[in-house]
Amino acid sequence: MTRIVAIGEAMVELAPAGGPDIYRAGFAGDTLNTAWYLRKLMSAADQIAYFTAVGRDAMSDRMLAFIDAAGLATDHIARRDDSSVGLYMISLTNGERSFTYWRGQSAARRMLDDAAALRTALQGADVAYLSGITLAILPDTDRARLLDVLRDFRTGGGKVVFDPNLRPRLWPDAKAMTDAVMQAAALTDIVLPSFEDEAGWFDDPTPEATATRYRDAGVDIVVVKNGPSQILVATPDRSFTVAPSPVADVRDTTAAGDSFNAGFLASYLNDGDLARACMAGAGIAAQVIQQSGALVEVQAVSGQQRG
Ligand code: AMP
Repeated sequence: MTRIVAIGEAMVELAPAGGPDIYRAGFAGDTLNTAWYLRKLMSAADQIAYFTAVGRDAMSDRMLAFIDAAGLATDHIARRDDSSVGLYMISLTNGERSFTYWRGQSAARRMLDDAAALRTALQGADVAYLSGITLAILPDTDRARLLDVLRDFRTGGGKVVFDPNLRPRLWPDAKAMTDAVMQAAALTDIVLPSFEDEAGWFDDPTPEATATRYRDAGVDIVVVKNGPSQILVATPDRSFTVAPSPVADVRDTTAAGDSFNAGFLASYLNDGDLARACMAGAGIAAQVIQQSGALVEVQAVSGQQRG
């Protein structure tokens, strides 16, 4: 049995629903998306828990019920009286999606108020999964606390898996973002960056440069995603590329990276084969980008279902 704890912020999503000013409410968020797909892909004996904080209002109740109904463990989700959950709306202008966020009152920002809660959640876990958004939403002191907990988790034998998911508008400036990401990378076993973001904010000229930067920071396994282009894997012993199968009909790339991470991890934890894990990740992402929305039905790709 494998136990994974995903740490982050789930939000209410309002998406256009077929008419002007008509929206459909749902729940999403990068780490929640990955946890949601992991739950679909891993065996029932494995446990996937979500660590966050929500309020006590009706929308917080609904979010908690949604996470629970997805089969994710919710026992370490704190409830706070003083805050609620974040919200974003998707606007469509000439087919282009743009996002407006309200997350100032999000309880998830306070989830590291009590570091002991995360320590308890990680007890007996094999993997802690987080993203650059997890880092971005926390106050500086709480981010330092998170990194302390992850350091101890690794000392105890746990693995840290991190998607830098660079979102400059969540940070005071680009340097604060890149510094925090590299600090987290120094405590990471597997990093899953997307080259387009990394090139923009770290000035990496090539995916190889991205891989080298993270390897030099101490990461064991680097998997650089690059949209339809080759995925680059770098480990202490070797580096190689894996080509995702072409997707002719790309409908909505939301959650491509999040779902890739789930497919990758489910497969890698099953048999330790990195090339197969990349194919599994790409296979899930390919299904996700041919449908609209972050959370869609997918079929497990051969080699990643645990027996
Ligand atoms: P990204 O985070 O955009 O680099 O994408 C994550 C993963 O989603 C990639 O490694 C691919 O496996 C898949 N993906 C994203 N965009 C495409 C595309 N246009 N065609 C095929 N696969 C894609």
